[in-house]
Amino acid sequence: MNYFLHRDFKISEKNKNRIKIYFSGIKVLNIDINLSNKTYNAIIDVNSFKHLTNFDCFNCLTNCCVQFPYEFNKKARNVILGNLKEYDSLTKAVSILKEEGLTESEIIASIKKDKMLIPDEHIDSTFDRCTCSCIHIDRHLCAIHKICIDNDATLGEIIDTKPLWCSIYPLEIIQDDETLYIFVPTKKNSYLAMNDSNFACMDIDKSKSAYFRRENPIGFKSEDYQPFIISYQNVLEYIFGSHFVNEIKKSLNLDNQNGDNLQYNKKI
Ligand code: SF4
Ligand code: SF4
Repeated sequence: MNYFLHRDFKISEKNKNRIKIYFSGIKVLNIDINLSNKTYNAIIDVNSFKHLTNFDCFNCLTNCCVQFPYEFNKKARNVILGNLKEYDSLTKAVSILKEEGLTESEIIASIKKDKMLIPDEHIDSTFDRCTCSCIHIDRHLCAIHKICIDNDATLGEIIDTKPLWCSIYPLEIIQDDETLYIFVPTKKNSYLAMNDSNFACMDIDKSKSAYFRRENPIGFKSEDYQPFIISYQNVLEYIFGSHFVNEIKKSLNLDNQNGDNLQYNKKI
């Protein structure tokens, strides 16, 4: 058993038991899904998809919550290399590495092959999080996402370019051979997740707190919170297929609600 998007991170025997016990005591939806070109039996914590969320990422004033995504595909690397000037003006990653003594061709070679797009010795020491995390005017954004939007990429193209983990974050997927346990981290089950979900976008009470309103006076309006399956509908549909989304909506009596892409493809 392992986290689907962190295959190297092994789950302890104690946590394996906790996962099995948790899923045997809740209402689950059991369906086949196709993910990364393979068919799995998905066991879904269906009620967790009712959890109220508001992914107002363009109005979020924290650095990218994902921190380090572990895996960039060829498309992401090509988008960065094809837009190197914009990438550097957003992230300063190229300029900083030059100041650290690297030549432009070494930086380009690193973007092409290194796991985190920078030489390993600069992870933690020069960058404390993903090199694509950036500030544009007064907003914390993802440089890959922004460059894709500026180039009029569709939702599907953005998802195919960004690391999969970033696109589905903070949804958690645990793999046990051909079975996937899928759940939205909530107060009830977040102890089973590897992803940190202690954010205002996942916690409407937190978003209303005086402390948070002081920290972020522009985003996270209570009326924008929706069940996770609606907030994330189009992303989930693209990644898992419409059967996955329709079955969860049916099970939660949310057939009449539909999500939009506004919080995913806003030009800023
Ligand atoms: S997922 Fe939440 S914490 Fe992360 S950037 Fe979006 S709104 Fe902010
Ligand atoms: S690729 Fe973008 S969304 Fe993913 S960790 Fe980096 S900045 Fe965040």
